[in-house]
Amino acid sequence: LKATGKDPYPDWKAGDPVPYAALCTTFSLVEMTTKRLIILAHCSLFLQQVLRLTPNDLLPTVQLMINKLAADYAGIELGIGESLIMKAIGESTGRSLQVIKADQHEIGDLGLVAAKSRGNQPTMFKPKPLTVRGVHEGLLGIAKVQGHGSQDKKISGIKKLLSAADSATSGKGNKGVDITKDKGGPSEAKFIVRFLEGKLRLGLAERTVLVALAQAIVTHEAAVAGEKAPTPERLAEGESVLKSVYSELPSYEVIIPAMLEHGLFDLPKVCKLQPGVPLKPMLAKPTKSITEVLDRFEGKEFTCEYKYDGERAQIHFVAPDHIHKYPGSVATLQKDQKGLSAIFSRNSEDLSKKYPDVLGKLDSWVKEDVNSFVLDCETVAWDTMNKKVLPFQQLMTRKRKDVKAEDVKVKVCVFAFDLLFFNGEPCVKKSLRERRELLHKCFQPMEGEFQFAQFGNTNVLDEIQDLLDESVKASCEGLMVKMLDTSESGYEPSKRSRNWLKVKKDYLAGVGDSLDLVVLGAYYGRGKRTSVYGAFLLAAYNPNTDKYETICNIGTGFSEARLEELHKELTPLVIDRPKPFYSHSTVPKDQPDVWFEPRLVWEVKTADLTLSPRYKAAADEFDGTTGGGKGVSLRFPRFIKSREDKKPEQATTTRAVAEMYRKQESVAQENAGKRGVD
Ligand code: ATP
Repeated sequence: LKATGKDPYPDWKAGDPVPYAALCTTFSLVEMTTKRLIILAHCSLFLQQVLRLTPNDLLPTVQLMINKLAADYAGIELGIGESLIMKAIGESTGRSLQVIKADQHEIGDLGLVAAKSRGNQPTMFKPKPLTVRGVHEGLLGIAKVQGHGSQDKKISGIKKLLSAADSATSGKGNKGVDITKDKGGPSEAKFIVRFLEGKLRLGLAERTVLVALAQAIVTHEAAVAGEKAPTPERLAEGESVLKSVYSELPSYEVIIPAMLEHGLFDLPKVCKLQPGVPLKPMLAKPTKSITEVLDRFEGKEFTCEYKYDGERAQIHFVAPDHIHKYPGSVATLQKDQKGLSAIFSRNSEDLSKKYPDVLGKLDSWVKEDVNSFVLDCETVAWDTMNKKVLPFQQLMTRKRKDVKAEDVKVKVCVFAFDLLFFNGEPCVKKSLRERRELLHKCFQPMEGEFQFAQFGNTNVLDEIQDLLDESVKASCEGLMVKMLDTSESGYEPSKRSRNWLKVKKDYLAGVGDSLDLVVLGAYYGRGKRTSVYGAFLLAAYNPNTDKYETICNIGTGFSEARLEELHKELTPLVIDRPKPFYSHSTVPKDQPDVWFEPRLVWEVKTADLTLSPRYKAAADEFDGTTGGGKGVSLRFPRFIKSREDKKPEQATTTRAVAEMYRKQESVAQENAGKRGVD
């Protein structure tokens, strides 16, 4: 990046609130490139400026950059559909809904429609400039509105922001500019609307913002100390400190104020894993065979645990007289005379209102003098008569919110498999063997309520096979095979680690893991099914381009009742045309009858993978080589279940799809080779 020598915001003085226009200028610079290092440099330079001039606004600035108003566990979601935004754009710019809809149909990007509408609007007087803090507060207000008349209140909140937004921050308006061709102008209206839609679509990954923040603070701290610009090694050191702190305590609300007070390099002393701030769970890599497991873990001690088929649950607890030690977390935890407790999902969503029956019993699980803990567990539906695990579908029939412990019909048993924090200390760096010993020593299993995950420590193939069979007989999905000793067996938050391998019974015959895919469109049914959708268009997610790439149509695995439910669930998500970030065939006969907002995630099994010009998943990986523009697609896909615990961005990635395809091809070649030898 060449410095121009000019200050782009001469009016932004030290102590002034950060102008929203300045952030939008950074966004548009980011939007103009796909090069990660340049994106990083733009973000880091901007954050340095915030640190220099208005450090108190660092938190809302970072939150707007990552398109999140608060940490996931705070449960703050905008949840605003396209139609509400269109209404607000129309009302704030004096254009009819019909015109806005026509524009949306033509342009296909509501952000640009908003910018165009603002650009066309004659302004009588210049509105007071928006600030980052003001926009953050405005959006938070919109998200928090609930209950009667909330739609109107949300629209009025959006209108307020849009009325104050410039269409182009240069102040020159958009006259003569063809706004339908997005040239990435720094329009405030555009970025407000994109924030409301839940996607800034800048190619700005959350991880990149984290790295930019680390670089900015290291550079700023060096400048304040009167030192030279930091070396690449020092920048890398800062990055690794912030990444490691964030993985244990993924909350900018806690980290940023602490960083401003203590400096980056002292953060690990003050910001540690703590009850009340859920960490992103450690994830496993799929494997296709037990021999693959043995190859991976050769010569190492490992353990095979049952893989329970329920819902991931991270259970947090603090005894009453220790609450004062965790001030950052108190707000998120349910408080009663027994202390503070909460259950978080795989997505860090607060599930406490779903499991009051579980939370009510936490104190009976502990043996010794226990004052705080964080457990990693799976909640599973439990058959109290026959004393056994019930299928996942039973668990899904439980209400999600405002459950009363006394009304619970589907009982759950919690199977604990890891201990991440115990009596004031994080345990994630201990080996799995040590964590497990502590778990078994200090907690008290109770059949049907709280049990330890079953396991066997063996590296003998036949014994692993027996464990796998037993796990399936016990209604589990298979095994989780985990490294037991050495530093490699530490708990790695948010990582899909090679130190945890999943072996599902189904994999052994099929292509490997099932896929979690996003529903983008649907086709009306035939015969009996004409009033509902009979088939659906699904996509995988490409995190590099932030696009959903189509992978298959699916019409198998649904009961009639399920199809009716899906019709009801999907109807509010219908949109006028595909989003610009959908990568799909443009051949007319391939088009679905309706398109949806990307919201639902479904788990799907497949017989195998093939390449097809009709679908686009991972097409760029095969372009010009094997596939010639074709994408990977699923043959005979079958619906397994809805993944309510996954967001669309957590769907199977196109890279994983490509990996599965390559693996399948290499196995096929190997087999062909073997046949040749025979
Ligand atoms: P992903 O691999 O993307 O997380 P997923 O959520 O579908 O996908 P699975 O493939 O089902 O994950 O496997 C990991 C999940 O298995 C964990 O998230 C957890 O909910 C569950 N699980 C059940 N038993 C165990 C266990 N003993 N150890 C770890 N996880 C377990």
